[in-house]
Amino acid sequence: KAQGKNRVHVFAPALQEQILATARLLADLRVAQQRDELRLFYQPVVGTARELRGYEALIRWQHPDKGMVSPVEFIPLAEQSGLILSIGHWVLRQACLQLADWRHDPARAGLTVAVNVSARQMRDAGFVEQVKAVLDETGANPGLLRLELTESMFHADLEETVGKMHALRTLGVRFSLDDFGTGYSSLSYLRRLPLYQLKIDRSFVTHVDTDSHDAAIARTILALAATLGLRVVAEGVETPAQFAFLAQLGCDAFQGYLFGKPALTPLFWTSTEHDA
Ligand code: C2E
Ligand code: MG
Ligand code: MG
Ligand code: MG
Repeated sequence: KAQGKNRVHVFAPALQEQILATARLLADLRVAQQRDELRLFYQPVVGTARELRGYEALIRWQHPDKGMVSPVEFIPLAEQSGLILSIGHWVLRQACLQLADWRHDPARAGLTVAVNVSARQMRDAGFVEQVKAVLDETGANPGLLRLELTESMFHADLEETVGKMHALRTLGVRFSLDDFGTGYSSLSYLRRLPLYQLKIDRSFVTHVDTDSHDAAIARTILALAATLGLRVVAEGVETPAQFAFLAQLGCDAFQGYLFGKPALTPLFWTSTEHDA
């Protein structure tokens, strides 16, 4: 008060530093797209014989000073600021361009690409039209596009979200429920969603072969999926033991460092190469 009115003092320098760093990162993110700093990485998704089924597209930010920035650091910022709408559009378009590029390559023509969709995008009134326009423009096969949603999206506007999912299903697009088991899943809404598959969260996969509770969760998710007629992908598979354990439980699709890390150039192999 001695310094007069209208002055705010931040007494925690660490907090002030953190707020400034976030503001700087957001300012940089606003121009990242024009500066062509966003990159889409691809991580393989495989079947029980390690045969390649497709990829999950995962964004990274090639920051001029910070190097490769993880989506964990900037996607929340992009969501709060609304920037996720244009970033999400870019991701979807890149993924569909990739699908279209493989369309006439016999070795790659059947590979799927999964794209993460944020709640803010799904709430956007123009989302369905945007997906349709990108599919039309790129010529990607809609049946090979997977959209990954999270449980948190269904807390509000369930009717509206389900309506959009049906509209996109009609185009041929399929939906995965990402990080399954970490949110507040209600079995009653799960039944109403036009989903294609569930993704078992990495947190249950890490100790699936050594912790009986995690094994029980994986078993329960697989049983639930079978009841609802859904496919299951296990994410974060890092060891042959986790892979074997999940396969023996009946899981038939896998993703994780054991098969390949996300890479700018999609890792590729034919099933015969891997039989060796
Ligand atoms: P997610 O969709 O659950 O993606 C899986 C994350 O697990 C990825 O982290 C992937 O690199 C990591 N992962 C895969 N296999 C393994 C493994 O074996 N071990 C370990 N330790 N990690 C593994 P990433 O790429 O850092 O992405 C983190 C999250 O950021 C994603 O989680 C997703 O929620 C979000 N995200 C990424 N790209 C996009 C995007 O284009 N749009 C939106 N809205 N969100 C995105
Ligand atoms: Mg995902
Ligand atoms: Mg996931
Ligand atoms: Mg995750």
